Amino acid sequence: MSIAIIGAGMAGISCARALREAGRQVVLFDKGRAAGGRMATKRMALGEATIRMDHGAQYITARDAGFAALLQGQGIAAWPEAGRFVPLPAMSALPRALAEGLDIQLGRHVSALRRQGGQWMIEHLPADAVRPGRPLPDLAAEAAGPFDAVAVALPAPQAAPLLQPVAPALAAALEAVEYAPCWTWLAVFAARLDLPDVLRPETGPIGWAARNNAKPGREAQEAWVVQAGPEWSRAHLEDKAGDVAAGLRAALGAPAPLTEVTHRWRYSLVERALGLPCLWDGAAGLGLAGDYCLEGRVEAAFLSGQALARAMIA
Ligand SMILES: Cc1cc2nc3c(=O)[nH]c(=O)nc-3n(C[C@H](O)[C@H](O)[C@H](O)COP(=O)(O)OP(=O)(O)OC[C@H]3O[C@@H](n4cnc5c(N)ncnc54)[C@H](O)[C@@H]3O)c2cc1C
Repeated sequence: MSIAIIGAGMAGISCARALREAGRQVVLFDKGRAAGGRMATKRMALGEATIRMDHGAQYITARDAGFAALLQGQGIAAWPEAGRFVPLPAMSALPRALAEGLDIQLGRHVSALRRQGGQWMIEHLPADAVRPGRPLPDLAAEAAGPFDAVAVALPAPQAAPLLQPVAPALAAALEAVEYAPCWTWLAVFAARLDLPDVLRPETGPIGWAARNNAKPGREAQEAWVVQAGPEWSRAHLEDKAGDVAAGLRAALGAPAPLTEVTHRWRYSLVERALGLPCLWDGAAGLGLAGDYCLEGRVEAAFLSGQALARAMIA
């Protein structure tokens, strides 16, 4: 049985590993340059040096015994409270390690799923031709397949347009899901800021800020990840990146950084989940997995991918 998985974040990778262990042939498609999705690392140049910053997810929690066992031996360190872990030397190291040996087609923006003789074709465009938030470019898509089944492991708002033409009931089920956006400011400084390693202010623009270099295995240079809270991110969603950076820098009370990056995550943490581990239409051979099925955490994405693989194998 051949299976296509759309999305090589934690949910897609987890699903692929379980299917491969059960002897299925699996190909993943992802628009990114590397696997991992929101478990992302930004490499920031500072002269000759590179500072790796945890750009999306900040740490992993492991409540499930199977997930906790998997983390053992994957280059994970505890940080800073019991039950929180960070991959070494940066967040993207974990999905890359787990994706080892999987067939992942990167740089492919999947633009359509097509039914063909009871199987599935995957249509994709070069990812660098696709602009976020804009209509798809008028290019002939390439087709991959046929596949016996498809697992869609994308954030719900990105999965819905793919599902609408071929599985409107699944697309409709995703309407219940809600995500918060998150403006994120990454900044590298010349000297240590006089602040604790982690800030979670109750008021103001900042929802979370952390000294990246206080995490185990990171470069020593003073570097901060500052995430705006959901309300502030929503209110400033269409602001210019420079204005957002200025607002977050002022809220942190930081001097001018040596280098900085500002990024808008449109789909960050899940605010309203589906409440089911996955969705699977056995007759169509089409399933859905992702953090949004359970809750907005890396572990939930992993468990959702496992659940979908089990449903597909049964
Ligand atoms: C700012 C931020 C902070 C967070 N902090 C934490 C934290 O501290 N702890 C925690 O546990 N979780 C945290 N999370 C949540 C965590 O990152 C996610 O729950 C988890 O990584 C989701 O995995 P996923 O596989 O469901 O989705 P994703 O990681 O989003 O993977 C989806 C993949 O699909 C690809 N894709 C999308 N559209 C297409 C398309 N059309 N064609 C091909 N590929 C496509 C993307 O490139 C991506 O690789 C955070 C997230 C953000 C953004």
